[in-house]
Amino acid sequence: MNASTNLAYEQSAQPALQKLGLDTALAHLDSAAQQAAAGDWSYTHFLGYLLAGEIDERHRRTVALNMQFARFPYLKRLDGFDFDAQPGIDRRLIDELATGRFLAEGRNIVLLGPPGVGKTHLAIALGVQTAEMGHRVTFTSAIDMARRLAKAMAENRLHREINIFKQPKLLIIDEVGYLTLDQTQASLLFQVISSRYDKNQAMILTSNKAFADWASVFAQDTVLASAALDRLLHRCTVINIRGESYRLKDKRRAAVGGTQPQGLQAVDTSVTLRLPEAKT
Ligand code: ADP
Ligand code: MG
Repeated sequence: MNASTNLAYEQSAQPALQKLGLDTALAHLDSAAQQAAAGDWSYTHFLGYLLAGEIDERHRRTVALNMQFARFPYLKRLDGFDFDAQPGIDRRLIDELATGRFLAEGRNIVLLGPPGVGKTHLAIALGVQTAEMGHRVTFTSAIDMARRLAKAMAENRLHREINIFKQPKLLIIDEVGYLTLDQTQASLLFQVISSRYDKNQAMILTSNKAFADWASVFAQDTVLASAALDRLLHRCTVINIRGESYRLKDKRRAAVGGTQPQGLQAVDTSVTLRLPEAKT
């Protein structure tokens, strides 16, 4: 190669990086080239270094977008979870879930338990982990999702709206069964569960309600409730958290004499639906 082609290549590196959209590599080209010369790097080391910087930056941007998209109500991480305070939870199981294998398997996670035991904390923490792996996540409460979808249906734009809940790699539905859904909302919740099941897409649900009482989650429609449970539990890890509320733990310790612990009873995980009481 003669001097003039050398120069031509050097001068074309910048526009080439720009054309390829490798903005980070472009921004670091000069400093990386200087480092490479000073450190006597091989050509492949230099190229690898430049591209690794581009990949890192892209991943950082993807994660930032994923976190925005997820609409977590607040941030929680697994390393902020006090497993000693909740001996009912198998730490190895949570660690296994944190590998993200459940996403590839389209396996659901249902966190059951009384208030304050860390269901939402764990759901968000697994969601954050998923976003950091580069996947899209959507967090919603059951009632918010149902209301949004019902509104969209009334306004003839259900198809677009439901995609928000169908498409992400992971959908987190918090507080299933806290507020009752009407018939339309219940059938919309079912549609989301069913379409994600058909596409093998993972969900995390949290609930304080035993499965046997899920007819009440689905507007007392036992057929709809069992069809939903069937799909939900087909590939599923159920984590039934017994134990007392983390929120009340310190308060109780501080109270003179203490009060009776609440919420020590685990939620019943049997899936035989109790028939709703007949309306009088
Ligand atoms: P749930 O959704 O089961 O009602 P949350 O996940 O909202 O409970 O937990 C209530 C509060 O207590 C949150 O601020 C959460 O971070 C905290 N918390 C619950 N369990 C733990 C735990 N084992 N370690 C650390 N914080 C916890
Ligand atoms: Mg919660």
